[in-house]
Amino acid sequence: MTGGPEDPFASEELAERKMRFLFALRSRGVTDARVLTAMEKVDRGLFVRGIFADRAYEDMPLPIACGQTISQPSVVGLMTQALQVSARDTVLEVGTGSGYQAAILAQLARRVYTVDRYRRLVREAADLFRQLDITNITTITADGSHGLPEQGPFDRILVTAAAEDPPGPLLEQLKPGGIMVLPVGQSDAVQSLIKVTRSSRGFDYEELRPVRFVPLVEGLGSE
Ligand code: SAH
Repeated sequence: MTGGPEDPFASEELAERKMRFLFALRSRGVTDARVLTAMEKVDRGLFVRGIFADRAYEDMPLPIACGQTISQPSVVGLMTQALQVSARDTVLEVGTGSGYQAAILAQLARRVYTVDRYRRLVREAADLFRQLDITNITTITADGSHGLPEQGPFDRILVTAAAEDPPGPLLEQLKPGGIMVLPVGQSDAVQSLIKVTRSSRGFDYEELRPVRFVPLVEGLGSE
């Protein structure tokens, strides 16, 4: 029997796969109902190509084009949860990668700006957003460590590549009351996920958990 869209076995399998995916997220601490609903809606399978596509529903990072990675779903969930996005927010994501994280943010925010230093990744993600009819994401090829001074300031900023310290321009482009979540660390091996909250008095820093991200690299990529 072939598994077309009409095939009841295929849809039963799909429902079970989705249930396992959501269960794994919950058991790793993703408990925010809005975040779980957003992650239920966005099919990670569309953002992973080639030989790794059949592992898209497992809780692990996977390789994507340009030598980059799509983050582990539970880490995507925990970062999104820590960002406390509301429906009125304008969000900047640095590090589009596959576009998966941006597609989830787009379910929760008013508008998402996502930037990557690889033209190819930005183009492929933009194609997917069109295909999925997601219209509130603006994709830009740029060095995101400078932020987007013309589009900012932002209510929320999410960085999905690790810098040694929070980049100054990103701190500047965070609105008062705004939140930024980002991995920081001196090396590939030792990084922490940090939550920065901007108040009228300055910036508060909270360390959330150890993580491992690709580095934030200066300048544009070659592809
Ligand atoms: N959020 C992505 C995963 C990102 S992987 C997803 O959901 O799939 C990290 C990404 O950050 C890579 O695509 C890398 O090209 C990008 N990156 C690294 N340094 C950058 C910089 N200075 N500006 C913009 N993007 C950068």
